[in-house]
Amino acid sequence: MIDVEDLVSLVRNYNPNTDADFIRRAYAFGMEMHDGQFRRSGEPYFTHPVAVAAILTEQRLDDASIVTALLHDTVEDTRASYKQVEELFGHDVAELVDGVTKLTNLQLSSSETKQAENFRKLFIAMSKDMRVILVKLADRLHNMRTIKAMRAEKQIQKARETMDIFAPLAGRMGMQWMREELEDLSFRVINPDARNSIMRRFVTLQRETGDVVHKITNDIRSELDNASIRASVYGRAKKPYSIWRKMEEKKISFSRLCDIYGFRIIVENEQDCYKVLGLVHQRWKTVPGRFKDYISQPKSNGYRSIHTTISGRDSRRVEIQIRTQEMHDVAESGVAAHWSYRDGERSQNPFAVAPAKWLSDITERFKNADDHGEFLEHVKLEMYTDKVFTFTPKGEVISLPRGATPLDFAYAIHTRIGNSCVGAKVDGMRVPLWTRLRNGQSVIIINAEGQKPQSSWLGLVATGKAKAAIRKSLREEDRERFMRLGRELVRVAFDHIDKKATDKALETAAKQLSLGSADDLLSRVGSADLNASDVLHALYPELMRNRDEIEPQRAIISPDKKQKHKRAECCQPVPGERIVGITYEGQGVIAHAIDCSVLSAFADEGHRWVDLHWHAGPHAAEYVVSLDVTIANDAGILGRICTLIGEHNANISDLTFPERKEDFYRVMIDVELRDREHLHAVMLALEADSNVARIKRHRESARAPQDGV
Ligand code: MN
Repeated sequence: MIDVEDLVSLVRNYNPNTDADFIRRAYAFGMEMHDGQFRRSGEPYFTHPVAVAAILTEQRLDDASIVTALLHDTVEDTRASYKQVEELFGHDVAELVDGVTKLTNLQLSSSETKQAENFRKLFIAMSKDMRVILVKLADRLHNMRTIKAMRAEKQIQKARETMDIFAPLAGRMGMQWMREELEDLSFRVINPDARNSIMRRFVTLQRETGDVVHKITNDIRSELDNASIRASVYGRAKKPYSIWRKMEEKKISFSRLCDIYGFRIIVENEQDCYKVLGLVHQRWKTVPGRFKDYISQPKSNGYRSIHTTISGRDSRRVEIQIRTQEMHDVAESGVAAHWSYRDGERSQNPFAVAPAKWLSDITERFKNADDHGEFLEHVKLEMYTDKVFTFTPKGEVISLPRGATPLDFAYAIHTRIGNSCVGAKVDGMRVPLWTRLRNGQSVIIINAEGQKPQSSWLGLVATGKAKAAIRKSLREEDRERFMRLGRELVRVAFDHIDKKATDKALETAAKQLSLGSADDLLSRVGSADLNASDVLHALYPELMRNRDEIEPQRAIISPDKKQKHKRAECCQPVPGERIVGITYEGQGVIAHAIDCSVLSAFADEGHRWVDLHWHAGPHAAEYVVSLDVTIANDAGILGRICTLIGEHNANISDLTFPERKEDFYRVMIDVELRDREHLHAVMLALEADSNVARIKRHRESARAPQDGV
């Protein structure tokens, strides 16, 4: 095990200003906490955190990262608490340790590869500070390096997880060396036969051709020397796993594989990159289509380099990368380049632009910050902050927009699950459906047969998918309700002319009106797009015409017997109520109720007023009065109302729905009545129904009649 002074000097090598005492205290605390614990290999447990810290020193990371590595398993596996770590090592370290602990506790139980990308995003989203991921990756790297001590099945599981989640994560962070090592360590476990066969091929190849790497390196060096360019040349065979992947992707055998060797030329400045490129292309034959200039056009993750492939000795293809040291640092350590020290200073690598946009934001802040020491404290992850990642009971990750609720989760799984959702459990606890989900929570949806989406759900969901599904379901439900209402209205209208609203009759009417089906017709009548009387007209045009032409009885008596009278539509007076007439030129007299508010408009026109009386005898039930009824939203009640009105020997001539709420709706019923007593009897009967919330006579007071009524 690396002892504490060795560790301190590893840090001091790149950061002379390190707080050695801070590291010593963490080392002592970790050692004490893990005392008596052992790894499966038999070593003291504390060797692991120390090894993780040592890996971070290779990345030249800051003191807080090193201390976090030393403490990363204390809160999870020992009696140490968050509070204790915070008191002893400060808030930042406590937060970092807490972040690593949270990542460790995530259950990556899904074996589905398509879930891997979501897991990686989850990791990034859960790490408020990038250093949490750097420590976690180092932790995984050490565990993979020492995986042989684990049970065989555990080895496979960890290796798969590493291959699917951690190696690509390292790649996304721009840490190529880490990615390659994690892949190779996993490959050893997952497919040892394939790896061994590739290694054997290398041995054979070397026997046949000698040490190709050494020869080509010397060739390149002598070219550079001749041109007096200072540079370092590194050559290597590619890693077994990347060779394997190429073989798999291209479906070719090892012997036909071209890119087995890779060379890297590190020069002092950008100009030299292009000089070296010229030398290489003069000396060797280039392979067409393989040249890429990532210096003039860097990758979005900040990667800069020139790539070219040449036919080298024995016409073997060799890939060559040409770059400066700064470019190389970014290519190898990626995100970590920002945190790393060089020559005792926090490096200010101008090329370090990490995986996504957030880093350019960070760089902006870095430039503007006066105190670079504060930089680390202010670095927060801004990737995926608009997303939350949640788990199904099976461990699948469901990615949702921030602000999403269990309903969104349910609809994300399946529309059927969403539609029948009645409740949810988050991390085992019942929660209301409006609860906002957070990263890493596991969600169980509770469903019930017969549950239907409520219109209030529209306010609870954040995803378009859920909104669309809820709207669709509400529309379908509306249609059903409209159809039930339509059926009542049509029945009443047919009864009125002593006909039956048979399916056959409705189908025929639908055809006449160019509607798709009888259901279509009913739902249109129910939603007041179509009048029930239009349906009758379509079926019985003759009968309806006759009815329209029936001569109204002379029910209103006035001094001038020749004058034509009409009832005012605004106040709808009925026999038994006091009325007064207003003369309209060429149109006769309009009879208003004496208390009609319209009358005040004629106060100064006494000559237009006419004294009117109702005919004294019995009247026919033909005076239409509009009743404004508010009823509970229950389709059955409309049928009862129609029946009640019928039982009082009154007819319904029209029915409209001016307002619909979720629990109540208003219906305007035009009833044909004899007189005031008849009206009162009908209103009383309706009022007695418990589902009628309110009933009143509808009188239009605002609109004064202009010409005609
Ligand atoms: Mn660990």
